[in-house]
Amino acid sequence: MTITEVVAALRRERTAIAADVTDRFLRYVQIHTTSDKDSPSIPSTPRQFDLAKVVVQELHDMGVTDVELTDSCYVIARVPGTAADPPVPAMCLMAHFDTSPEASGERVKPLLWENYQGGDIRISGDVVLTPEENPLLQNYRGETVITSSGDTLLGADDKAGLAEILSAVRFLLQHPEIPRVPLELVFTPDEEIGRGLDGFSRDMISANVAYTLDGGEEGELEGECYNGYMVEVLCTGEVIHLGYARGRLVNAVTMAAQFVSMLPRNESPEATDERYGYYAPLEIKADMGSARIEVYLRDFEFVEIERRIEALRAIAAAVEAQFPGGRVAVQPHKQYLNMREAIAAEPGVMERARQAIRDTGIEPVERSIRGGTDGAKLCELGVATPNIFAGGVNFHSVREWVAVPAMVRAVETAVLLARRWAEADSSPAS
Ligand SMILES: [Zn+2]
Repeated sequence: MTITEVVAALRRERTAIAADVTDRFLRYVQIHTTSDKDSPSIPSTPRQFDLAKVVVQELHDMGVTDVELTDSCYVIARVPGTAADPPVPAMCLMAHFDTSPEASGERVKPLLWENYQGGDIRISGDVVLTPEENPLLQNYRGETVITSSGDTLLGADDKAGLAEILSAVRFLLQHPEIPRVPLELVFTPDEEIGRGLDGFSRDMISANVAYTLDGGEEGELEGECYNGYMVEVLCTGEVIHLGYARGRLVNAVTMAAQFVSMLPRNESPEATDERYGYYAPLEIKADMGSARIEVYLRDFEFVEIERRIEALRAIAAAVEAQFPGGRVAVQPHKQYLNMREAIAAEPGVMERARQAIRDTGIEPVERSIRGGTDGAKLCELGVATPNIFAGGVNFHSVREWVAVPAMVRAVETAVLLARRWAEADSSPAS
């Protein structure tokens, strides 16, 4: 079956796909899966198993036999390919179970706004979606928009991605005549608290290529994120009885304040956007004897991270010079690296995503993530992992919404990726 024929088959079954993905989505969002950054366990909240078990059952129901649920709440499933020959390596699709602790995810009651006619969506009280604040709404006149009931988040991040991957697999299993790549599905807990891969090991999958369906608006495609470093700055003072302190006290509180005041304000998160990176002082814990400052460094270019680490060392030396007897140590810790290099090393991973999105009838919207993703950690393990839209808007808030056609388009994109990777080279096939 050619790409054009697959697109036609998807068009014919659009109504059934919309019903299937909406159904799954509405089921998943009603399961409480908020993660908890203060919990040390994996997963951070056992309730994430509730959704994992539902997903395992639904995979079995559609005929996927190779499904595993690990003690750490990872679901790993394998779907054999149907490409004739030559054999092609597997492609991985990923999504996460948890929702953000930034808004309640308990007792989510999804509301369906069918046949949206433009204008405001009054969810409840003062929770209103206006077209001014949500210009994308205008693309969905006559369509169904889904919101929460206004006192919780919706959970499209990332239950839309989860529902879309399952709907894509269902479609592919119903159409074995479509040549497809072997699929490896990985569903993870705790993405929102930055621990989505803590219980993951490289040997769980064989694929060298993966896509997270965890992006926002329709068409979004991200192949780049920040390099992230956390730098600990440790100030050590000299404590003396305050009555005899003249010329002898070295106050670590004052040293820490001085250090932070010397960070360049024009390279702060509040002063930068687009491709500029920054220093962000997150926290100071201090008494007169010692102080600890946490500084985040973010930049798309690694050399800029190195430059900022050197600058922090220079500031440390300057503070030491102003506080004789005091000590300032700078300790950088890597958090994550830009996915760009790993993605560039795997030819075709971005190009096939662009093609698959175009196949669905829209232009890809390429962005750089001013943050990190689980994809970045997979990239470090050698799996090239761009992020693709799941369709939701206003993530982590009570104003979160998703339109059904955006979810359908994400299902189509996943199906077309499976079709496109069934071919050994990425030259445009028709
Ligand atoms: Zn997410």
